[in-house]
Amino acid sequence: MSSRRKFLKASVITGAAAVTGSKIFALPKKIIKPELNNPIVISTWDFGKPANAAAWEVLKNGGKALNAVEAGVRIPEKGHSNQSVGYGGLPDRDGFVTLDACIMDHQYNCGSVMCLENIMHPISVARMVMEKTPHVILTGQGALEFALANGFKKENLLTEESKKDWQEWLKTSHYQPEVNVENKKAISKNDPMPGGIKNHDTIGMLAIDSLGNLSGACTTSGLAYKMHGRVGDSPVIGAGLYVDNEIGAATATGVGEEVIRIVGSHLIVELMRQGLSPEDACKAGVQRIIKISPEKSKNIQVGFLAINKKGEFGAYCLQKGFTYAVKNDKEETMYTAKSFY
Ligand code: ASP
Repeated sequence: MSSRRKFLKASVITGAAAVTGSKIFALPKKIIKPELNNPIVISTWDFGKPANAAAWEVLKNGGKALNAVEAGVRIPEKGHSNQSVGYGGLPDRDGFVTLDACIMDHQYNCGSVMCLENIMHPISVARMVMEKTPHVILTGQGALEFALANGFKKENLLTEESKKDWQEWLKTSHYQPEVNVENKKAISKNDPMPGGIKNHDTIGMLAIDSLGNLSGACTTSGLAYKMHGRVGDSPVIGAGLYVDNEIGAATATGVGEEVIRIVGSHLIVELMRQGLSPEDACKAGVQRIIKISPEKSKNIQVGFLAINKKGEFGAYCLQKGFTYAVKNDKEETMYTAKSFY
């Protein structure tokens, strides 16, 4: 090598070392992989179990939490035995099945649809809002047009069963969200979905993937016989769902008006940030509702479910009977949340 070339090479090295630090040539011999976590998925109510199973198929193969929660909640959205999420959901008081859903990833990206009709999988539309638009929320007709323009099919979501229930309700037209009215209907062979709670229920699902990233999804047909146009907590980021990848995530079910008032899921994540366990944070959320609405809270259901960054989870509710499902490589378990009343 000529001395001029030697000089040039040396000065480039010295210059680069000066800019980037002296360890420029101390490259690791092996590529260091990020530490792998144990994935976990948790979700609300009995239909959380088959939903978790679908999410687990994604997580166990190293898939992203975002893909897992979307795949998971699509199961009860499609199932018609439950009358509170997606297809087969009980309609509003005018006979329309209107759907609310939202999704959030580990980078504060989020998407939501509100009062969407005739689309089987609102959660996938919410994801598309997040990924394909500059917005976070689309509602009603605009959400429907966006879905149709993006290849979703228009379908009738009102089943004969739910239509009959609605017609029966019309005889009194008395609107009162009741607590945990069980759906005892036999589960049909082609819909292996627990019937769940008839008058309300939302699937909220939270997952951590093998990279340790969190995501969440929340989807519902909302409270039975609500006013046309009513939106609950479920598609409201911060109320029905919140994910903060540094801390944890939370989701809610029950009377959405009470959850929105306290921005429930965001509150719970912030309480975990202050050091509370997931269960204690959920309990504090429930206590906040009782403080604000002491009388009303005696006769309604609200349940919170949360997970922290370590994969610890917990729940708490107003009234007895709120169940949730957990799946990881060690367990596939149904839990019953502790309740205030
Ligand atoms: N939170 C839902 C809503 O208010 C209903 C439910 O979870 O039961 O629409």
